Amino acid sequence: MNDNEGAGARRLAQTAAPAAPFRELRSLWFQLTGTLCNLACRHCFNASGPRHPWLPGLDATGIRRYIEEAEQLGVREFYFTGGEPFLHPELLDLLADALAVAPTTVLTNGTLIDDGMADRLAALAAAAAYSLEIRVSLDGATADENDAVRGHGSFDRALAAICRLSARRLYPIVTATEVAAAGRGPGLYDRLRRLLLEAGVDRPRIKIIPIFAMGRLAGREPDRRLTPELLDGYDTARLQCTETRAIADGGIYACPILAGLRQARVGTGRLADALGPASLDHAACYTCFETGMSCANF
Ligand code: SF4
Repeated sequence: MNDNEGAGARRLAQTAAPAAPFRELRSLWFQLTGTLCNLACRHCFNASGPRHPWLPGLDATGIRRYIEEAEQLGVREFYFTGGEPFLHPELLDLLADALAVAPTTVLTNGTLIDDGMADRLAALAAAAAYSLEIRVSLDGATADENDAVRGHGSFDRALAAICRLSARRLYPIVTATEVAAAGRGPGLYDRLRRLLLEAGVDRPRIKIIPIFAMGRLAGREPDRRLTPELLDGYDTARLQCTETRAIADGGIYACPILAGLRQARVGTGRLADALGPASLDHAACYTCFETGMSCANF
């Protein structure tokens, strides 16, 4: 049990956490490489990295079984994440399988997308029945700003990948957290947009997401929890755990943010049996409530 799980278990014993009812299976996430990543960003909410990943990756057979079941349940979107999904040897085949069923997104740090990979992704997108989205993380509009968070050289490599994908009309969604911008005032969106336009990205798409008090930021951000009183009058349908599930090592989890944490596990077998209420007993739930955060593209 890691720190996040331990804290959650203690709290569950102390209070009855509020829960969000499930509505429909809109999206299904796969934590493809677990927490294996070639970077070790200092704000990573699931503490991914190259050494000793605490969460193993998924095998392709299990993923295909869940794609099939999700199709029967009317799923509308798939997402592949990690860790770094491009470290998985079967990523492209799995994307093709998912794209036969629904629009599919892969989240990446972009550092492994060279020209050859960009060509293969473009071919995959061109042949697919549904749209392929690629989200590339970039946490600042300059190398200094980004690399302080994501590691030396990551800015140049991510920006190069964004340009390669854009040149092939894949229009990546650049995803930035507010961590690098803290203390730099408003304007991260504008600064990123200017950067992308100047780099030749003719249709910049940008998603800004908040930081979470977990993973590498556990204990460094306020640990606030939801209560039934806070949720009084609040429409829980705004929370993504009412319409999503995440597949990660060990089973099915309430949402991609909490994938792999035992306290958020809602099933170990069939998806259909894991579509009940989700407990909102985690500091991340407060962030969702406070910011309206969704891991979905838009
Ligand atoms: S972290 Fe957000 S999406 Fe996940 S269970 Fe909590 S409120 Fe729901």
